[in-house]
Amino acid sequence: MTPDRLRLAVPNKGRLLEPTLRLLRDAGLEFEDQSRALVSHAENVPLDILHVRTEDIVELVGDGVADLGITGTNLLAEADVELPVRLELGYGRCRLEAAVPVDDEAVSFEQLAGRRLATSHPATTRRFFGERGIDVAIVPLSGSVEVAPRLGLAEGIVDLVSTGSTLIMNGLRSVGCLLESQAVLVGRPSAVARRDATVDEVVTVLGAVVAGRRRKYLMMNAPRRALSAIEAILPGLASPSVIPLAHDDMVAVHAVVEDADVWRMLPPLRAAGASGILVVPIEKLVP
Ligand code: AMP
Repeated sequence: MTPDRLRLAVPNKGRLLEPTLRLLRDAGLEFEDQSRALVSHAENVPLDILHVRTEDIVELVGDGVADLGITGTNLLAEADVELPVRLELGYGRCRLEAAVPVDDEAVSFEQLAGRRLATSHPATTRRFFGERGIDVAIVPLSGSVEVAPRLGLAEGIVDLVSTGSTLIMNGLRSVGCLLESQAVLVGRPSAVARRDATVDEVVTVLGAVVAGRRRKYLMMNAPRRALSAIEAILPGLASPSVIPLAHDDMVAVHAVVEDADVWRMLPPLRAAGASGILVVPIEKLVP
């Protein structure tokens, strides 16, 4: 590793590994698949990728060993280090939730007062309940938190949930969400100046991939007279491009739309007279 090369710390195993490597490749970084080695060198950008444990990433960036890191909001909240979030990456989504056995009467955080709560997020849990003046006892565990009530270790838990099936399988019910989490790109508070330009490049290009994933490029042909009806269906943000076609009364309409809206838009576009509608993925989008 040379001092002029930027260091980006990424998870070397676990849930965030695959989506993180996919993000880096989608961004166009070329590097050997060395997820078993500590470092891989990007071939086309002055950047070294440090493959480390997910739980160590905040610390490594905080200490300045890495300039940037990819981790979960939950791990950032749990760590004793304040780091600027440069980008929300849109994957690794989960919620930190408080839960109790299904037959328990508690339905609010306040009703957890006086309970023992088992969690692998003791700092976040302590802070959350402390800020609300709710007195709970924290039982720190590093894993298998969901079995703690059955073992008689605690009356409730605070744990990460995505689908909720682990809670159900363990006879637990959510009481509420303490924190919404996703993968984030974090940076050092003050990156070394000569690497700043590369930090900005990484933030721009990763941000372009994340922005592109959320949207689709919509193309269609339509009779010119249908244009105002079509424009009314397309979201107002960016006005669509309207391109004349060889047939005088026909135009092509192109627009960038939110992926989540495509489903809702297609039937009315067709009804308004659009035909040959193409929905195309966007590789990168720089606003
Ligand atoms: P790992 O333990 O290495 O698989 O990584 C766990 C990290 O993945 C957590 O700290 C979260 O940031 C993220 N994550 C996303 N969904 C979940 C989930 N359902 N359970 C646990 N972690 C999740």
